Amino acid sequence: MQKAPILLATRLSPMIEAQWQENLQAIMPEENILSLNQIHDRRGIEIALVANPPSGILGDFPDLKWIQSLWAGVENLLTDKTLPKIPICRLIDPDLAQAMAETVTAAVMAFHRDFDLYQSQQQQKLWRQHPPVSTRERSVTILGLGEMGRVSAARLASLGFSVHGWSRSPKNLQDITCYHGEEGLRRSVDQANILVNLLPLTEQTRAILNRDIFQLLAPDACLINFGRGGHLVEADLLDYLEQDKIRHAFLDVFVQEPLPTEHPFWSHPKITVFPHIAATTNPVSASKVIAQNIRHYRQTGVIPVSCNRVLGY
Ligand code: NAP
Repeated sequence: MQKAPILLATRLSPMIEAQWQENLQAIMPEENILSLNQIHDRRGIEIALVANPPSGILGDFPDLKWIQSLWAGVENLLTDKTLPKIPICRLIDPDLAQAMAETVTAAVMAFHRDFDLYQSQQQQKLWRQHPPVSTRERSVTILGLGEMGRVSAARLASLGFSVHGWSRSPKNLQDITCYHGEEGLRRSVDQANILVNLLPLTEQTRAILNRDIFQLLAPDACLINFGRGGHLVEADLLDYLEQDKIRHAFLDVFVQEPLPTEHPFWSHPKITVFPHIAATTNPVSASKVIAQNIRHYRQTGVIPVSCNRVLGY
């Protein structure tokens, strides 16, 4: 019997969606990958590949068995009430975790080697050297020890930093001091010099980067938010920067993206703004991961590991 096509549903630009379609089709010549407007008969289609799909459309595919996201973060998908109650698989791509670890390391190193201070001194033509601090003397806390957090934590530990991590369930990771659960949060952040957020955005983690957490940090600390904009209470950060309790913040994610031009973060001397680039999906490596998932499903009928709708990630 002929296999039904696979749906590709996105709100990416037509050019980018066409590139995805080409990549996916090239790596899975045995499948027929069709975008929404190329599908005339919706029956029989079991798999949808999605990136921010148009709201409501997936409910119109009566035989859909599972949804594969092209992205690692799936908070929008999981909260979309129009989605059919079928498994949603997020992208788990080792290349993405490596990219995240590189960007986390770059930001941690920039702060550790005082690049933010020298940047500001340059504006004042000020020649002043700051005393060196060893990586052993810097404590870094990573919130979230999942696909992204674990690789970033290991990379920082290999550079000699004193690394602490926090997750929902207990973990035992080499060279990382691990904490978990609500009671572990404060202990993990206590006296951290650098706080890195790599949590998913859920009802439990929304607004977690707030003054209650900031007040636990060591003086002159650094905040790195590479999770989601909704994790951060912006007014609390601005207040802590103003009071010199936080020395610098590296922000990659925002409630509204692109960050509006009038937003105070753009021109703040103690904030580095990135346009959501900490770990962007690489269509080539992502297509390989997705092809593996689909082939395994076609051979065994087993749907890849999916997100937990109750936990929200
Ligand atoms: P993941 O594998 O699902 O890991 C999530 C981690 O967060 C896990 O360790 C989980 O704990 C922990 N966690 C979740 N809820 C928690 C809670 N209430 N309390 C304590 N810990 C909690 O996700 P991932 O692939 O590492 O990605 C994490 C996030 O990074 C994404 O959701 C996205 O927001 C962000 N991201 C950003 C970019 C970017 O370019 N800026 C790129 C990719 C991803 P358990 O281990 O106990 O489950």
